[in-house]
Amino acid sequence: MAYKTIYPYTNETLKEYPNASDADLEQALATGHQLYQQWRQEKPESRSKILQNIADLMQKKRDDLARAMTYDMGKLLTEAQGEVDLCIWIAQYYAEHGAELLQPVPLKTKLGDAYYLKQATGVIVAVEPWNFPLYQVMRVLAPNIMVGNPMILKSASICPMSVQMFADLVAESGAPAGTLTNLFINYDQVATAIADPRVAGVCLTGSERAGTSIAATAGQNLKKSTLELGGNDAFIVLDDANWDELQKVVPQARLFNAGQVCTSSKRFIVMDSMYDQFLEMLKTAFSQVKMGDPMAETTTLAPLSSKSAKEKLQAQVDTAVAAGAKVYYGNEPVDLPGQFFQPTILTDISHDNPIFNQELFGPVASVYRVQNEAEAIQLANDSSYGLGGTVFSSDLQHAEKVAAQVETGMSFINAGWSSTPDMPFGGIKNSGYGRELSDLGIDAFVNQHLVLKP
Ligand code: NAP
Repeated sequence: MAYKTIYPYTNETLKEYPNASDADLEQALATGHQLYQQWRQEKPESRSKILQNIADLMQKKRDDLARAMTYDMGKLLTEAQGEVDLCIWIAQYYAEHGAELLQPVPLKTKLGDAYYLKQATGVIVAVEPWNFPLYQVMRVLAPNIMVGNPMILKSASICPMSVQMFADLVAESGAPAGTLTNLFINYDQVATAIADPRVAGVCLTGSERAGTSIAATAGQNLKKSTLELGGNDAFIVLDDANWDELQKVVPQARLFNAGQVCTSSKRFIVMDSMYDQFLEMLKTAFSQVKMGDPMAETTTLAPLSSKSAKEKLQAQVDTAVAAGAKVYYGNEPVDLPGQFFQPTILTDISHDNPIFNQELFGPVASVYRVQNEAEAIQLANDSSYGLGGTVFSSDLQHAEKVAAQVETGMSFINAGWSSTPDMPFGGIKNSGYGRELSDLGIDAFVNQHLVLKP
């Protein structure tokens, strides 16, 4: 059985889940298609209540959902609770605004009045990762419920407990069968689902490797896809950055969720005048983290999500060091049984170092020294990724100008990354295409159906 909850704090296998059969997949497709046929006759307003009920039940089961996420992939319980709160917010946002965002859009044309409808297209396959087991799902589920697109979910194989709990909750909230069908399927079954004529599109959040494969399958079957992939986000510190603010923002920008965030700050690009001070500040912050039981409120750094995640990160750091990078702090073994990785600071990463253009998915910060702003922007853009990024400066207008020159999907001024229901989320280059959340996210899988009248 591929789907297992192995608690990364104790390495104990808590539960295994049997794989879904091809018959289960067929049943899910049939149920989803039936629901699509029903939903396309109804107005989006009629589905607001479904989302509101899901949000209400999530509020009641907040702690159970959060604990299940911690068991699945080890995140701090406090962060898991925050994730449930964000999911509730997303559900409520689309319950409140979804119908309005799906109103027909009037057009004035030379041929007469026209408009386009925003209509449902069919079942959507969602392939989601483990780093935010529920938030990633809610980002696509909530808008698609409003649109009228039922969803089949393939979660990461390491987080079945929380995802199944959530799927059960959706059913318990009274949502019609097919609204969200969670299936423990393999890659071949995902491909079968994408190819099925009842499926209108696929959304993936995950690695480039998965993106390449899913996008190819979608392309072969002429299905729409959205890809939310990895990132190697730059955090540019300009000469006039406010030091007090910087100190508050930087450690969390890297360490939140044990550093396993697609859009966490991974490359700190610091002006020469602040470089030494910056490194000392980061070292002090990293040395003060408290690793331990992720359920305890006093713990500030969780284990990584799995043994293989830790091994992969260690191999990347070892490669970086072998190729000339220096360890300014960390990279020592942690004397705890779980999958802990000591926060680590790397410097002197040359352009030809293999990790220069790799995503380090864990508590490892790469720090670069630059002589001027142009060099900072050039370095920020010298990446195959383009997801998020930060510019820190006391001159907000100037920071905005610098941010506009960074090739990326999201920029945050004087702040680390953030995500709210009303801000679009997504990237460019190898970070993927398409947007989730906000008005852009709800349009991802709608049929923009033009109607022209004389
Ligand atoms: P992953 O290995 O690509 O897995 C993501 C999901 O895709 C999992 O459900 C996985 O299933 C499935 N999958 C992988 N290859 C597949 C294939 N060929 N066909 C069908 N399904 C396939 O990524 P991950 O390690 O879980 O997540 C970490 C990555 O996600 C990082 O690169 C991170 O930056 C990125 N991410 C991006 C965003 C964003 O919004 N841009 C947000 C969060 C994370 P299995 O678990 O069964 O392998």
